[in-house]
Amino acid sequence: MVVAVDVNKYFGPFHALQNVSLEIKHGEVLCIIGPSGSGKSTLLRCINQLERIDAGAIWIDDELVGFRQDGNKLYELTDAQIARQRLASGMVFQRFNLFAHMTVLENIIEGPVIVQKRAKASVIPEAMALLERVGLADKKDAYPSELSGGQQQRIAIARALAMQPKLMLFDEPTSALDPELVSEVLSVMRDLATSGMTMIVVTHELGFAREVAHRVVFMDHGRIVETGTPHDILSSPKQKRTQDFIAAVL
Ligand code: ATP
Ligand code: MG
Repeated sequence: MVVAVDVNKYFGPFHALQNVSLEIKHGEVLCIIGPSGSGKSTLLRCINQLERIDAGAIWIDDELVGFRQDGNKLYELTDAQIARQRLASGMVFQRFNLFAHMTVLENIIEGPVIVQKRAKASVIPEAMALLERVGLADKKDAYPSELSGGQQQRIAIARALAMQPKLMLFDEPTSALDPELVSEVLSVMRDLATSGMTMIVVTHELGFAREVAHRVVFMDHGRIVETGTPHDILSSPKQKRTQDFIAAVL
C-alpha cells in the first residue's frame, strides 16, 4: 500500500532522511520509534507531501507520490494534483489543530463539504457515526476550547477519518496530553487498527507499539536502523543503538 525506496530529504545541507526504504501492506500498523531529531516526522511529512523529497520515490497504492512518470522522465505534480493525492492519507498531529471557531460537528464536516464538495445531508450522518465511534456524539455542538486534550485529539482523528483516507498517519498523537488522557486516544487508535485501517504511527508509547503494531521501525540520525516485529525491536533488538534507546525509554 505504501512503498518508499531510497528516500532522501535535505534541509539545506542537513541530511534529514538518508536512503529510507520501507513497505506497509494494506491493513498493517507500522510504529516508528526513535530519538528526537531522527527524522520520524519528516518521513511522515514526506509521505503526506507536506515536504518534497530530494531523491528516491514513494508510492501509495501504486501511484507515485508527487511526480508523474512519462517513459523514464519524471515531472513534478502541480499543487492541485498534490492536494488531490494528499487526500489519500489522513494525518493526526501532536497538537490537535481543530478549528477553534467551529463546533465539533462543523470541524468534522468541513473537509468533506468544502474540499470534497459533498452534500451536507449525506455527510452529517457519517460525521455522527464517526463521533459515536470515538465516543463523543454528545459533544457535537461543543467548541474545541470546551473539550479536554484527549477529547480534542479524538475529534481530530474523527475529522481525518471523515475524508475517508486509505491510510492514517499519526505523529506522536498522545505526547502533548496529560498522562490520564493518553489511554482514551490510544483506545480509539487501537479500535481503528482492529477495523483494518492501514496506519503509520510515530509514538513513544512502546506499550501501544507492542500490542497493536504489526511491525516496528527504529530510526536514528535520518536512517532506519532496524525493522521487525514488536518483539524483535522492543524485546530483543539487535543493534546497539536500538538497545540503548529502548533501555532509555523503558
Ligand atoms: P521529534 O521526536 O523531536 O519529533 P523527529 O524524529 O520527528 O523528532 P524531525 O522533526 O523529522 O525529527 O526532524 C529531523 C531533523 O530535521 C531534525 O534535526 C530537525 O531539526 C530537522 N528539520 C526538520 N524540519 C526542518 C525544517 N523545516 N528545516 C530545517 N530543519 C528541519
Ligand atoms: Mg517529530
